[in-house]
Amino acid sequence: MSADALLAARGVAKSYGSVLALRSADLTVGHGESHALLGANGAGKSTFVKTLTGVIRRDRGTVTLDGAPVDLRTPAAGYAQGIAAVFQDPALIPDLTVRHNLRLTATDAAVVEEHLARLEIGGLDLGERVRDIPLPFLRMLDLARALAHRPKLLILDEITAALPADLSEKVFTVMAEQTRGGGSVLFISHRLEEVIEHCDMCTVFRDGGDVARFAPKEGREKRIVQSMLGEQM
Ligand code: ATP
Repeated sequence: MSADALLAARGVAKSYGSVLALRSADLTVGHGESHALLGANGAGKSTFVKTLTGVIRRDRGTVTLDGAPVDLRTPAAGYAQGIAAVFQDPALIPDLTVRHNLRLTATDAAVVEEHLARLEIGGLDLGERVRDIPLPFLRMLDLARALAHRPKLLILDEITAALPADLSEKVFTVMAEQTRGGGSVLFISHRLEEVIEHCDMCTVFRDGGDVARFAPKEGREKRIVQSMLGEQM
């Protein structure tokens, strides 16, 4: 499986000072796969994706993308290697305009506008300051920015938590397009019904490590919750 995986992470560990956020986490994502990363609050999901994208550096472990080692120092390096993410906290500087933010990450504003138009996200002016734009639109903007880099792996960290149902549906459309095109998605959400409906596989993290991997449609909610809690129900 891992020989032809898109993403293979092994033994990823990270501490913040005395806080051990990830003790040893493995994750394998196949080509064309929509893969959910699940776990209770504090399980280490966001830390893991931050290590994948170059926002923070891992202490230990190996990561490969399409067989090539991934050891990123910045999100821009992630774009170049084929990884782009929408983070839980909008990764946009509030006092700058959207256009200036895009320039800072070497993102083609015209391509971002094309994606927004394609997704029918109207009324977003790239000349506006980020602080004046409602959160749901910022998430969609972040998504369009990630897509503009044509990632092999698109990481979505709780993107739907801040979205109304109609915008969440657009995210699911993007996920389906990404996997149909041979790319992959790593999807984090606490909404299990979204995971069961839109993801082919899931990995469950608990206490900073991976504890289960299965197809969520087969496990359904009971198995997901059991794995998250580490309990028989
Ligand atoms: P959530 O679902 O709430 O987003 P998570 O699974 O994404 O949780 P992380 O945010 O990765 O978990 O947190 C893992 C652990 O690391 C937690 O104990 C958290 O308090 C701690 N942690 C996260 N970020 C920092 C930080 N910047 N400094 C210190 N500790 C941190």
